Amino acid sequence: MNPFPIILSAPSGGGKTTIARQLLQRRDDLGYSVSCTTRSPRNSEVHGTDYYFLSLTEFIAQREKQAFAEAAVVHGNLYGTLKVEVKRVLSAGRHVIMDIDVQGAKQFKRAFPDSVTIFVLPPSGEVLLERLRARQTEDRQQLISRLQSALLELQAIDDYEYVVVNDDLEQAIRTVSSIVDAEVVSRNRVAGMRHSVAAIIGKLEREISNQES
Ligand code: 5GP
Repeated sequence: MNPFPIILSAPSGGGKTTIARQLLQRRDDLGYSVSCTTRSPRNSEVHGTDYYFLSLTEFIAQREKQAFAEAAVVHGNLYGTLKVEVKRVLSAGRHVIMDIDVQGAKQFKRAFPDSVTIFVLPPSGEVLLERLRARQTEDRQQLISRLQSALLELQAIDDYEYVVVNDDLEQAIRTVSSIVDAEVVSRNRVAGMRHSVAAIIGKLEREISNQES
């Protein structure tokens, strides 16, 4: 198997983190890339599991060392994917699933062109607003910033190969899982495919010339 990166993006509250977590529980061919962020941990978040929570100085030091495959400012905080995290998962033979914003996804796809890009779309504006408000983890200013980010995210949808509407969570998880299955057998990814096909063609050509002689 040829493991590849899977990028999930969505407006905040779109459900992509839940989808990624569920897929990680259900499939042992997937691994997660833990991102770095300068934002503070929320409630039960754990350093090294949910994020690497870095100070601004630590984040900048990593960026100067070219440690990030991508990095972006998302509603006022810095977020970045470490190259070593991605390589750790891929070299263990697993597809690496990432929950990153649209700016990061664009940079990441340039660095890893074989990435699969999936946009998770809320079923309607009402549902998106409801989900954003239900978070209640932020003050008014942070909510406005999340609404503005959601706008930017939606405007980048054309950069993605797949769109999954998250109306029914279970269905959305299954659809993302099917996309992964389909990508595994997509022509460009099948390892040794050209060699196998060339061998089959050679056999057919020899058989044709045998039959004709
Ligand atoms: P939250 O702070 O709610 O966990 O995440 C906020 C936003 O940051 C989400 O849109 C999420 O996809 C994005 N994000 C999380 N990790 C990364 C990352 O490593 N790089 C980028 N560019 N965005 C990220």
